[in-house]
Amino acid sequence: MKYAEVAVDSPVGAGRTFTYSIPDGLELAPGQLLRAPFGPRTLQGVVFELSGVTNAPYTRDVLGLVYPDVLLDADQLALARWVSDYYMCGLFEALAPMLPHGTRARPATYLESSVEDPAEVRSGLTRRQAEILEHIHSTGRVSQDRLIEARRTSRSVIDRLVNAGHVRRTEGGRVGPSVKRRMVQSLKLTDQAFKLDSSEYEALAKSAPRQSELVKHLASERHSMRIAEARREYGSSAVSGLLDKGWLETRSMQEFRDPLAGKAFQSAHPVVLTSEQAAAASQVRAALDDSQDGSAAFLLHGVTGSGKTEIYLDAVARCVELGKRAIVLVPEIALTHQTVSRFAARFPGQVAVLHSGLSDGQRFDQWWKIKGGEYQVAIGSRSAVFAPIPDLGLVVLDEEHEWTYKQAEPSPRYHARDVALRLASLKGAVVLLGSATPELATYYSARRREVGLLELPTRVLSRPSSASGPPTPGRLPEVTVVDMASELKSGNTGILSSPLSEAIEETLGAGGQVVLFLNRRGSGSFLQCRSCGEVVRCSGCDVTLTYHKGAERMICHYCGRRRRRPEQCRACMNRRLSLYGFGTESVAAEVETAFPGTSVVRWDRDTASRMADSESILDDFASGRAQVLVGTQMVAKGLHFPSVSLVGVVLADIGLNVPDFRSGERTFQLLCQVAGRAGRGDAEGKVIIQTYRPDHYAVRAAAEQDFLNFYVQEMAFRKEHGNPPYAGMIRLVYSHTNRAHTERAALDLSEQLRLSRDARAFNDEAVLGPAPAYPPRVRGRYRWQIVLRGPDPRRLLDTIAVPHGWTVDVDPVSFN
Ligand code: ADP
Ligand code: ZN
Repeated sequence: MKYAEVAVDSPVGAGRTFTYSIPDGLELAPGQLLRAPFGPRTLQGVVFELSGVTNAPYTRDVLGLVYPDVLLDADQLALARWVSDYYMCGLFEALAPMLPHGTRARPATYLESSVEDPAEVRSGLTRRQAEILEHIHSTGRVSQDRLIEARRTSRSVIDRLVNAGHVRRTEGGRVGPSVKRRMVQSLKLTDQAFKLDSSEYEALAKSAPRQSELVKHLASERHSMRIAEARREYGSSAVSGLLDKGWLETRSMQEFRDPLAGKAFQSAHPVVLTSEQAAAASQVRAALDDSQDGSAAFLLHGVTGSGKTEIYLDAVARCVELGKRAIVLVPEIALTHQTVSRFAARFPGQVAVLHSGLSDGQRFDQWWKIKGGEYQVAIGSRSAVFAPIPDLGLVVLDEEHEWTYKQAEPSPRYHARDVALRLASLKGAVVLLGSATPELATYYSARRREVGLLELPTRVLSRPSSASGPPTPGRLPEVTVVDMASELKSGNTGILSSPLSEAIEETLGAGGQVVLFLNRRGSGSFLQCRSCGEVVRCSGCDVTLTYHKGAERMICHYCGRRRRRPEQCRACMNRRLSLYGFGTESVAAEVETAFPGTSVVRWDRDTASRMADSESILDDFASGRAQVLVGTQMVAKGLHFPSVSLVGVVLADIGLNVPDFRSGERTFQLLCQVAGRAGRGDAEGKVIIQTYRPDHYAVRAAAEQDFLNFYVQEMAFRKEHGNPPYAGMIRLVYSHTNRAHTERAALDLSEQLRLSRDARAFNDEAVLGPAPAYPPRVRGRYRWQIVLRGPDPRRLLDTIAVPHGWTVDVDPVSFN
């Protein structure tokens, strides 16, 4: 084998590999990560194939390996090809999430002036070139990307300055992993120490008791110990005494940064499954048992609290019995905590975690240990679908309808569910998708028998009526819809309607807990001029700023920009600015005022920006220290608190006004999920939904917890408008700091797309737009979009190279 086909970490030649020659003495295998020359630079690349011959007229040598290990197996390489094709991204980009964390550190290109004085060369330059040279000269050293971004410079202006010799390009930083194994100096007993007889040990115990304790510790407990720790516990002199005697030796050992270190999980035995659960579980088991026949996928459609997690646990148990391993995906890192606890309790010491809340070192170490086969189960958020777990037998996606499974940024813009299905078919593994409110598209494929449908229509009471027998069926909560318009008419202008206030009072009085849901954080209020109607907006984004009372600042929920509350209207200079609207912060305040002495916790992105904050807020609530939990959509997602008997939806309509064809689906899912948090224990659950649109079909279906009814209505709308799942969709977005340029780029591309569509008579495919995206400007950049829709929108792009600067989102889940 003399040549290697390598996917190189460069945007050039997206989707293809490059041929390199392999120097003598270097052994290569597909799936290895190497360094290779690319143009003037050194880049990383992954070997896809080896061959003895090449058609390439000229090849350069591979420089060397980054790791000796084979990082990706053949199935993962095939998966990367699929991701690259399907999501239209580079091959290296597609496989990047499969590599150990921190692998992809990249150098930046810098520009420096090489002239004494820009004025001297001025005559040979255009005005623009002179301006840019002046800027580079006065700044000293600038990153090329930043210059292009900040000064709207084009590449060609820079290239001309470089070619004329006025500007030098340099590379800063280095290519290659930014995270390494952590090595520590450890102590270990020498062979000599093991050969000593008992009299020598006794002598040591008398003459140097601390030395003897250390020897005993190393001989019995563990075989090695960090030097620093030994010095702390046994004293430096004991350590050096033993080293001098030749009884101890030092050794450099890898220390694993373990995210679950020091966390204890109560061990749990499997529950006795109800007959409904058992029926579902046995189908999954059967599929696992004969997975040689190819992969299988199931949709587990079970109402909230029907015990879906018990089915996942059972499936993982079977998978492990068969000598295989599983990946379990959860939609939100805040939820991994609860899920990890349940899995760790059932499979002690066998569970790995992978998500963005871990430190770089922890993620790196987990990757290697998972690859080494040290865990049977890897649990994590969407990117854990790429975990390097050997012998994959099962992939579980909990709450499969959640949009967080789709990566928006950066590329690859993949959906973890679709990647899981693809991966499973490569590996012959089983996929188990669970939800109380499946995504329409998933349910549609279940109805068409592309995936098996398992139904759990009844709730399980968390406490079985007799200790050993199966539990009795529980009831879904009773839901009341309150029309806020009639509340207003009857004179109640507060956030809480009288039925909700009464229910809170009653629940708290009975010692129960309350969850209040509102999909708007902060005080939620915006500032509007009472004379001209002008609303205070973010200066970088075309969106309304939200007032946060605690911070006393107006905050942009898109870019995070903060500013003081203005005194007067920018448009008419009037000083009559008023706050309208409300958010979680206002709800929490209102509850505290209305029910003095009640402890209220708030859980949203403001209060729980870090993982640890989430854990402590949830612990406060779980332990009963707080009685009321107010939160945004995070509270809807899969939390299990048995003593919550009342759930209030403060305003159901918020999501309905979003310009997105999925707004009904999203509202329905959220309302059902939130309602599902009530009555998961012994007490009966009660849900109150406040809304100005009590007759909206999504609100009504959610109130009745009637998925099928919603499905039928929503699918009719989708069919009527030709939207997914009846069609495919690709979204193209262009953004730039110049308004006119952005618009022109969008018009140009859509024109090209239409011409090519008409020329090839692809009459079923539609080119929608171009139109400004929502919001039309974010962080100072204007945004325009084009949407391709139809049975096969991809073919519109077959013959068109999407110009630089556009993002391509296949199967977009959001239009923000
Ligand atoms: P879901 O994931 O469908 O919302 P869970 O798996 O969280 O439901 O189950 C809800 C509660 O019911 C949990 O406390 C769980 O332990 C309990 N449970 C589920 N199935 C059984 C069973 N067969 N026997 C006893 N308890 C069960
Ligand atoms: Zn902003």
